[in-house]
Amino acid sequence: MRISSEIVVAAIIFFFMMVVLAFNLYLYAKWHLRSALRAHSRPRFDFTAIDIDPLRVPDHGLEAAVLQSLRVTVYRATDFKEGIECAICLSQLTDGEVARLLPKCGHGFHLDCIDMWFCSHSTCPLCRRPIGTNPNVQPMSGLPTIHA
Ligand SMILES: [Zn+2]
Ligand SMILES: [Zn+2]
Repeated sequence: MRISSEIVVAAIIFFFMMVVLAFNLYLYAKWHLRSALRAHSRPRFDFTAIDIDPLRVPDHGLEAAVLQSLRVTVYRATDFKEGIECAICLSQLTDGEVARLLPKCGHGFHLDCIDMWFCSHSTCPLCRRPIGTNPNVQPMSGLPTIHA
């Protein structure tokens, strides 16, 4: 009788431990699933983290004054023999559309398209040349000059 009652007590303890373990597993799974879902859904709302070139420093767009200084023209097919394809919306410019022409590379884009682009970039979307008013600006290397 003594042995069987010990077995019953051990069985109860074992059963109790299993319940606690199962409950812990349930809590862990719930927490893990929720954090995994949260991590999964986060990038959908984080547009600032998305950049085409990860090696480039974060670009905060072109200054309004520089943007205003860029040439704006009404597109005429007769003025542009080869036509202009807007690289942002990927469509050919048609007569009467307002275009902005970039001074350094001569690339042209819809006014609305390129202005939207320059909200978050300061380079030509086609050739990646920086759009600066000062042509003498050189990129800073940050490395000390070594004199031999
Ligand atoms: Zn366009
Ligand atoms: Zn360009």
